[in-house]
Amino acid sequence: MSNIRHNWTKEEIIAIYNKPLMDLLYEAATIHREHHEPNVVQVSTLLSIKTGGCSEDCGYCPQSARYHTDIEGNELMTVSQVKAQALRAKSGGSSRVCMGAAWRNVKDGPEFDQVLEMVRTINKLDMEVCCTLGMITENQAKRLAEAGLYAYNHNLDTSEDYYKEVISTRGFEDRLQTIENVRKTKISVCSGGIIGMGESVEDRAGMLVALATLNPQPESVPINALVAVEGTPMEDEKPVEIWEMVRMVATTRIVMPETQVRLSAGRMNMSREGQAMCFFAGANSIFAGDKLLTTPNPNVDDDMKLFETLGLQPQKPFIKLQQPITVEASDSEFVALGEKPKWSRPGHIIEKNIEASMKNK
Ligand code: SF4
Repeated sequence: MSNIRHNWTKEEIIAIYNKPLMDLLYEAATIHREHHEPNVVQVSTLLSIKTGGCSEDCGYCPQSARYHTDIEGNELMTVSQVKAQALRAKSGGSSRVCMGAAWRNVKDGPEFDQVLEMVRTINKLDMEVCCTLGMITENQAKRLAEAGLYAYNHNLDTSEDYYKEVISTRGFEDRLQTIENVRKTKISVCSGGIIGMGESVEDRAGMLVALATLNPQPESVPINALVAVEGTPMEDEKPVEIWEMVRMVATTRIVMPETQVRLSAGRMNMSREGQAMCFFAGANSIFAGDKLLTTPNPNVDDDMKLFETLGLQPQKPFIKLQQPITVEASDSEFVALGEKPKWSRPGHIIEKNIEASMKNK
């Protein structure tokens, strides 16, 4: 068994990323086999429970209200809509449902109460429940844990240095603070990033340093390839090459051996062979469903055919951690505190974000 290290340096990670590809693949696949069942891949379903109209200026995101994209926004879904979608996902082989809301941060009130009820409902379907709702306080994390949340997703997106080129409405340290708040509960941490936003290999390594030096390391790390959406500041970014994706997955696997590495956005542009190489390099989760929040994703039948071709099995729920016990709202130990935390607003200038927000459709 390789030991888990929390003292990785950027130089070490760059050296791994740049190894001859066959050496990199061999090392990553060996570590993967020491820590995971190599022919098992988790299928997760990502549900956009509240789409669009977000106040943030994340340069990659079509859900920002600042950019002129074709995204149709919607109000928060109802609990019964979410339950129906979760049941459909379960019958399609998903063991995890991740619910995403286009919010800067969670605000105590009826909408958060509704999300807590969604968490209770899905946990009772014996599926792993994950939420990605923006920044949360410690008390909000405790309320989610009590409802039965299994994982909280909060991506670092990129390195601390490059973060300033992507987002001006919040700081990198806010991301770390939310992860710390989640860590005060039994909820597992899901945090990763996006490649193909114009960042350098140093930035990719910088993001992995930030994740791998967390102690404990995140239980789950999604690696996304940018889907460049028209109208966003990153609409002209070049597609990520499969080799970059394979290198990023393999490097993530080597520096975080026990983590579930998630092959996330951008699979539509990957061949079946390219995805197979990512699985070999240590990816052991995919997102299923025609859409990934708002961007296209392979359909579940095609994914299942690929699994059959490769001899892969979908992972059962609660293999890594025990299923949380749901506490009903009426028995809750934690009340809404109505906090107004001071999440930062750096407000520095990112020219291309401003240009995109000024453009007419
Ligand atoms: S990534 Fe999240 S926080 Fe950023 S604009 Fe999109 S929905 Fe808002």
